[in-house]
Amino acid sequence: MAKKDYYQILGVKKSASADEIKKAYRRLARKYHPDVNPNDKAAEEKFKDIQEANDVLSDAKKRKVFDRFGYYADNLDPDSPFATAGGPSQGAPAGGFDFSGFDFSGGGTSSGSGSFRDIFSDLFGGSSSRAQPEPPRAVPKRGRDIEIPLALSFDEAFTGLTTNITVNRSEQCSRCQGAGDTGGPVVTCPTCKGTGQVMRTGGRLQFSQACPDCEGTGRRREPCSLCHGKGTTPKSEQVKVKIPAGVDTGSRVRVPKKGHGGRLGAEPGDLFIVTNVGKHKFLERKGENIYVTVPITVPEAALGTRIEVPTAEGKASLKIPPGTESGQKFRLRERGFPSLRNPKLRGDQFIEVKITLPKVISEETKEILRQFEKSNPENPRKTIGLE
Ligand SMILES: [Zn+2]
Ligand SMILES: [Zn+2]
Repeated sequence: MAKKDYYQILGVKKSASADEIKKAYRRLARKYHPDVNPNDKAAEEKFKDIQEANDVLSDAKKRKVFDRFGYYADNLDPDSPFATAGGPSQGAPAGGFDFSGFDFSGGGTSSGSGSFRDIFSDLFGGSSSRAQPEPPRAVPKRGRDIEIPLALSFDEAFTGLTTNITVNRSEQCSRCQGAGDTGGPVVTCPTCKGTGQVMRTGGRLQFSQACPDCEGTGRRREPCSLCHGKGTTPKSEQVKVKIPAGVDTGSRVRVPKKGHGGRLGAEPGDLFIVTNVGKHKFLERKGENIYVTVPITVPEAALGTRIEVPTAEGKASLKIPPGTESGQKFRLRERGFPSLRNPKLRGDQFIEVKITLPKVISEETKEILRQFEKSNPENPRKTIGLE
């Protein structure tokens, strides 16, 4: 076996830089690669020589050994003062080095396609479809829903309301139609920097999850320059929202297709307005019904009368029959809130009367009450067994 001149094999000068050696190796390896020259024995031999040369010359330590001794063996020490060129003293075979036990390609020296494929992908990178699978293709995806809270007064909830709300939504990207790329070259995913994982914060916890932009593969086609690969572009929009009469705290009013934009022609999500209804000064709401407590005087309770009571729509008239007790309840039918399920239906309003006493100060009033006592001598506690 003749000694090989690795510099000659790679076609570089003895003074070549590491970079020049690398470039020469890549150029020649591409040219003589067995995948490019199938069934060409000469090319295959040449390819092996090129790899052999590169293996030694690309390694600074091995190259130093080769430069000093004219061949390489890993038991030679180029810095030893006792070593002599051309006469290896520590058991390297004379007349050249036997490379048979050497691993040049990283995958064995055979021409098996497995090891060559590794080299191939190393040489040709992403341009080889055999080297790595295609990055995932975007699929049509409905946009996410948006929820926006809205504070309403009691009266606004009763009557309903039409208002404009600023919604920070997104729309399908006009350049890539939501694909996130325009079919350009495959690159390292910029979102996860090729790791396939992104950090998410949930409460106080941080955890990593598969990168949504490359589906965890770390690679994708060059992102669209308009949407930066998101497939959607942000849009602040005034949306006219009709809040129906009868909403309560926690009601969700749906505005179709005003959520985030879809991708690749899929529908946008919906917008949900979540209402928070304020309290009324006197009226209390429970579901569709309204409750109120109304004070009446002793004569009104005893003699009966007609009084005004507050409702959600202003004053209403209520008949108090003679002999009304404190705590007695009356109902005004269909004076409650409209039903959200069926706007034709309404709840009721319930009125509880409470007899109130005036502060008795004048002697005249006191005398009237004594007269009243005399003409009504019955003991009201008879009902609970007291005489
Ligand atoms: Zn785009
Ligand atoms: Zn990614």
